[in-house]
Formats: sequence, C-alpha cells, structure tokens
Amino acid sequence: MTETARPRTEGLESQSKNSQQGAQSAPSGNVQHGAQSAQPGNAQQGAQSAQSGNAQSAVAAPGPTPAPRSRPERPQHVAVVESVERITPNLVRIIAGGAGLADVEDKGFTDSYVKILFADPALGLEPPFNLANLRETLPPEQLPVTRTYTVRWFDLENQRLALDVVVHGDSGIAAPWAASAMPGNRFAFHGPSGAYAPAPHTRFHVFAGDHSALPAITAALERLPEDARGVAHIELTDARDIIHPNAPEGVELNWLINEDVHDVDLLARTLDAGPWGESDGVFVFAHGERESIKAVRRVLARRGITRESISISGYWARGRAEDVFQAEKRLPIGKIEEDAA
Ligand SMILES: Cc1cc2nc3c(=O)[nH]c(=O)nc-3n(C[C@H](O)[C@H](O)[C@H](O)COP(=O)(O)OP(=O)(O)OC[C@H]3O[C@@H](n4cnc5c(N)ncnc54)[C@H](O)[C@@H]3O)c2cc1C
Repeated sequence: MTETARPRTEGLESQSKNSQQGAQSAPSGNVQHGAQSAQPGNAQQGAQSAQSGNAQSAVAAPGPTPAPRSRPERPQHVAVVESVERITPNLVRIIAGGAGLADVEDKGFTDSYVKILFADPALGLEPPFNLANLRETLPPEQLPVTRTYTVRWFDLENQRLALDVVVHGDSGIAAPWAASAMPGNRFAFHGPSGAYAPAPHTRFHVFAGDHSALPAITAALERLPEDARGVAHIELTDARDIIHPNAPEGVELNWLINEDVHDVDLLARTLDAGPWGESDGVFVFAHGERESIKAVRRVLARRGITRESISISGYWARGRAEDVFQAEKRLPIGKIEEDAA
C-alpha cells in the first residue's frame, strides 16, 4: 500500500485540454433569473457514519461466533483519466478509458450512472479495492465511500466514457477530485446502472433539473428525434455555466439562474407555468437537489401526472455528504414520493 487512491491536488494549469465534445459557455435559450439575495453554497457537511459504542461487557461470556456477513460484491472497473476539461466555470469533464472498461456495458439509458469509489488517502490503497477484506479490517468510517455520476457519453468501442462533474467548492470528495484530476489518475467504479431513455411514443418531453442533472438531461436531448417537442427547465447558480446542448428545434431550453439557496421552489414554479404541450403523452424527467425535486413532485401530483409518466429523484441534498443523503432515503426526509402526497 504505497500510493493514495484518493485524488491528487495538483493545479488545473497543467491539465490536458484535449476533450472532444466541449460545450460552449455562451448563453443560449431562454434565461430566467430567480431571486438573487444569497450566495450559493455554505452547505454544511452532514453527519458522518462514525461508529459509536465500543462498550465491553464486564464478563466475557463465550458465545456463538457470528457468521461473517456475506454480500455479493459488485464488480469494480478501474479507469484511467485520459483528459480533463473545464467545460464551464463550474463543470469539469473527465474523459476516462483503459482496459478496465473492456467489460463495461452501455445498456442504452441516457441517465446511466456510475458509482466512483474513494478511499481514505491515509490508507494508501490502489484501486480496485478489496472491499470484502477492508470491511473485515477497517472501522466503517474508514471504508471507501461512493459518489454517483452520470455517464455523459460512452465510446466503448474505444473503451472511453465521459463524466461531467459539478465543482461546487472545496467541500466534498468527488468535486475536489475532479477539479484537480490529472491524466493518468486511476479510479474504480461500480456500474453503470440507469433507468431512463426518451420513449418514442412520448409526445411532449418535459425535463427539469439542476446542474447535477445537466449531464443526464443533455444526454437525453441528444437522443431525441428531430421532430421531438418539449421543454427543458435547467436551474443553475451561475449563468456562465449555460451550455448549448444539441436539442431538437421543438424543444425549448429554459435556463433559470437562481443564486438563492433558500428559494427551493423556483424549478417547480417554472415547471408548473409550462409549457406542457396540448395533448396527453407528456413524460417528465426531473432530478436534482432533493428539496427542489420534492417541490417538483408536488406540482406533478397536483397536475395529475401519473407515476408511469415520471422519472424523478433527488441527486443530492444540500448540507449532506452523499453517504448521508443516501442513508436518508430510508427516512421520511429522504423520500420524494411521500412528500408529494
Ligand atoms: C443518479 C445520480 C447521478 C448524478 N449525476 C451527476 C453528474 O453527472 N454530475 C454531478 O456533478 N453530480 C451528479 N450527481 C450528484 C452527485 O452525486 C452529488 O452532488 C455528490 O454529493 C457529489 O459528491 P461530493 O463528494 O462532491 O460532495 P459530498 O461529499 O457528497 O457533499 C459535500 C457537500 O457538498 C454539497 N453538494 C453536493 N453536491 C452539490 C452540488 N451539485 N452543488 C452544490 N453543493 C453540493 C453537499 O450538500 C454537502 O454539503 C448525481 C447523483 C445521482 C444520484
């Protein structure tokens, strides 16, 4: 164990700039501004999953030895960073490849995502990680953690894929990693998984999401037929992050610039105002910050959009590291659906 598996922190200046699909940074589409009173960010890290206890019983009574927990290990793929591009001020594209992608499968979803594994740098681990072994030897708080990223595009013939990572400041693990990633860095991931791709019978496509959902929305827009109709409401905190997705003419791009982290309803209000198309056959793809997506879900429920016509989830939650965000999915606060009732 000689080298760290967690990202290195060299400066951006020396990064490779040979990305193939760079989006532009000039505004396009219909830009709407929400309230602008507060700075984005200032999110506080949520509680970590530290173990507590260590209580010892006064009498060490011999008992049955618990059977070791056996859980099937999900395959890990090891990728090598080929290039890093700052697409816009707050979005970094990582193009990764290598022989480790040989058995990666593109199942055709436009919201395909992978779970990147990050190990504590103090452990000096190299990917892939022997998770079963680490679970036996490390306390839970020192185990590798995962961060989820949409596959912006696959080029598996050439064993490559691209991830677009929102760099949201110094907090977190994945965002700082992406901000300082260098060609040659290696990382392990699980996946891809996915669930959505635009259906041919959809007559009006409605997309709603924030910066974290922009890769999935853009991948879907690129997949639409030329005569597709719809709207994409995309909420950003910084107008400089507007890009020019390759969308059909009949799909309106509605950029919302919201610098007020307390205004979690802007996306929902805007979505509610339409357009909705003039017929049934609407499908809604809505993903992003949890509270904002809960507000969207309430609008969809009030409008009577049926569950089969919706792909919806929180992609992150303000003030929570992903581990906490994922764990909270089991609690009332983490549920998007129940909040809509
Ligand atoms: C299916 C799925 C697909 C996703 N695809 C993408 C993608 O393609 N690109 C992408 O950038 N993200 C994507 N996300 C969201 C991403 O997984 C989270 O933003 C994740 O928390 C980032 O990890 P981190 O280590 O940078 O920050 P964490 O350690 O998880 O969080 C640290 C702090 O940063 C805050 N934070 C986390 N994300 C953001 C953000 N986007 N903006 C502002 N503050 C934030 C947290 O609230 C917390 O306070 C996806 C999530 C899911 C579930």
